[in-house]
Amino acid sequence: MQIFRTRIPNHFDLPRRIDRLGELAYNLWWTWQPNAQRLFSRIDHALWERLAHNPIRFLRQVERACLNEAAQDSAYLENYDSVFQFFDTYLASQDTWCSQQQPDFCKKPVAYFSMEYGLHETLPIYSGGLGVLAGDHLKEASDLGLPLVGIGFLYAEGYFSQRISEDGWQEARNNPLDFDKLPFLPVMNEEGQPFTISVEFPDRSVALRLWEVRVGRVPLYLMDSDVEPNNEADRKLTSRLYWSDLNFRISQEVLLGVGGVRALRALGYNPGVWHMNEGHAAFLILERAREMVASGYPFEEAIAKTRVNNVFTTHTPVSAGNDEFPLWLIDKYLSALWPELGLSRDQFVDLARNQQSWGETFSMGVLALRFSDRRNGVSELHGRVARRMWNFLWPEADEDDVPITYVTNGVHTSTWMARRLGVLYDHYLGGDWLDRLDDPELWNRVDEIPPAELWAVRIHLKRKLVFYMLERTRRRWMQGGFHPIQVIASGALLDPYVLTIGFARRFATYKRAGLVLSDLDRVLELINRPNRPVQIVFAGKAHPADEPGKHLIQEVYRAVKKAENGGRLVFLEDYDMNLARYLVQGVDVWLNTPRRPNEASGTSGMKAALNGALNFSVMDGWWREAYNGHNGWVIGDDNGLQSDAQDQADAQSLYATLENEIIPLYYDRDANDLPLKWIERVKQSLRTVTPQFSTRRMVKEYVERLYLLAVK
Ligand SMILES: *Cc1c(COP(=O)(O)O)cnc(C)c1O
Repeated sequence: MQIFRTRIPNHFDLPRRIDRLGELAYNLWWTWQPNAQRLFSRIDHALWERLAHNPIRFLRQVERACLNEAAQDSAYLENYDSVFQFFDTYLASQDTWCSQQQPDFCKKPVAYFSMEYGLHETLPIYSGGLGVLAGDHLKEASDLGLPLVGIGFLYAEGYFSQRISEDGWQEARNNPLDFDKLPFLPVMNEEGQPFTISVEFPDRSVALRLWEVRVGRVPLYLMDSDVEPNNEADRKLTSRLYWSDLNFRISQEVLLGVGGVRALRALGYNPGVWHMNEGHAAFLILERAREMVASGYPFEEAIAKTRVNNVFTTHTPVSAGNDEFPLWLIDKYLSALWPELGLSRDQFVDLARNQQSWGETFSMGVLALRFSDRRNGVSELHGRVARRMWNFLWPEADEDDVPITYVTNGVHTSTWMARRLGVLYDHYLGGDWLDRLDDPELWNRVDEIPPAELWAVRIHLKRKLVFYMLERTRRRWMQGGFHPIQVIASGALLDPYVLTIGFARRFATYKRAGLVLSDLDRVLELINRPNRPVQIVFAGKAHPADEPGKHLIQEVYRAVKKAENGGRLVFLEDYDMNLARYLVQGVDVWLNTPRRPNEASGTSGMKAALNGALNFSVMDGWWREAYNGHNGWVIGDDNGLQSDAQDQADAQSLYATLENEIIPLYYDRDANDLPLKWIERVKQSLRTVTPQFSTRRMVKEYVERLYLLAVK
């Protein structure tokens, strides 16, 4: 859609022949184009790694001599020209899936609201799966030519980075972002001043300035309250993700919903669809209604006219997980709004009134569900759980008829798939495989890949993971304050030829990181068998206010530090998108042990599967839909309830399958040391998961099943 209103600063001193690298650094398109990444890394690989893949810092710091060398290297220039030709064609293309398949739909933009976006490790404005899903949604919308515009926050302090102390306690460090060295482009007004909008609270108004991030063809606007003339407290409102303090939290959500609508209006957008990624953005419903009331409609009519275009995606399968605010907070922050809507206080509260054990609340989930005509969960099971959970809003309806559908999540393939695997696909699936990504027929051709070639890629990726861990550990050790046992705990003794299991995710207790370690003696016996050893790699952050989550990390870390595990249990600090990429690409088995049905979908297992790792997971979220008996393994059964007994039964099931099926299959080798039956399973997984659990399938489904109805 590309209505860029911002200008790329020209603050690089680059040789003329390669000076468009500066432009590339300001469009995140490069993050999902391996060939574009190599234009940076080939100039100075060590510097590129040291600067954590930040092209802006890279272009400022790289030696002039290295740039000159690249500008005269014919092989480099050939890549350079072909990348930019592809980039220009991509940005200008009129010939997209959207323009061909949905020409009418292409006219009005989709506004996509999310509290967080996981686009790349250099932009720490995400905390976990919700953000990464939003980032992948934007990238896919760009690839499909969807006219989509994103709204979110620029968190000046970023999400924290994690250190683990010697006794296993998580230490959070905030990393104030240096906007100047990140691809945030300031939106300016005609006078060359920062472009601002404002949101009123009863006693004051808060100004927000806007930044743009270019995600291929899709613009993402980020709001930032650290601006004159806001007071000190207000300037902090957008400095961090998910404040625990409810005053901050409700203020943030007002800024997202109300501020987001105003930002889009001020930029000249007139969206046909308003998509809320989770309930944090639900105040947009009231702002849109307020606009219509201001132009003369009574409230009832305003809400009826606007709800048609609202699409709400819920990600939360437990009622306590939805944001709700006590009514005194609603009085404090929204009392100026209800007269503008023509409502009394009671009528206003009735829009989203809910009852909790601790009192009456205003529920963002209720607001979003009641006033969005399209609603969905993020997997088949989660859709069912959501219909049951919210049945009370449609008391006349049977549970099955509650109007909440589901669109199962997916992942953006080019972001998560290893380049080496793509090379293999170019050869065996055909050069256009990425254009036909969601065509299941195409994936039958995976059978034609010779096992030895597929295995060579798998081994290569695991070695990359191991060497990456070693390099990180070396740097961490040199920084000091790192006890020798922590060097071992960070993977110094890992072996790239050993069966490797990965468990990396937010340390929320429902994900049960400790399940696999619940019988430690059994684990030690299993992983230390001389001819069939096993390694388990853990990573993940707990929200800084989540004490049980931090204790869980500590529990895992204590097991990791035991000498008896031989360095085969590992905890890697500071899980982010970079580490996630190494892990999902490098491990053999991806372990997932949520308490059913709390994992609404999960996406990390999809990333692992599309790189040839096998999933070993509880029948929850997406895996219930993907598992076919041959493409991975399950833990427990499809009927589990939440209880201590269930935890024990799941642990027993986990150990039995690991011991009797997974380990023997991995070490069952032919004369060439190939695990042929394992590779067969990998192929089953690649074939079934890659097309179905991609954002390609997912975004098309959002268009065809939800967005199209919302613009009608
Ligand atoms: C994919 C991803 C997640 C989400 O993983 P789940 O399977 O939903 O737990 C979280 N964090 C990062 C960094 C990711 O890349």
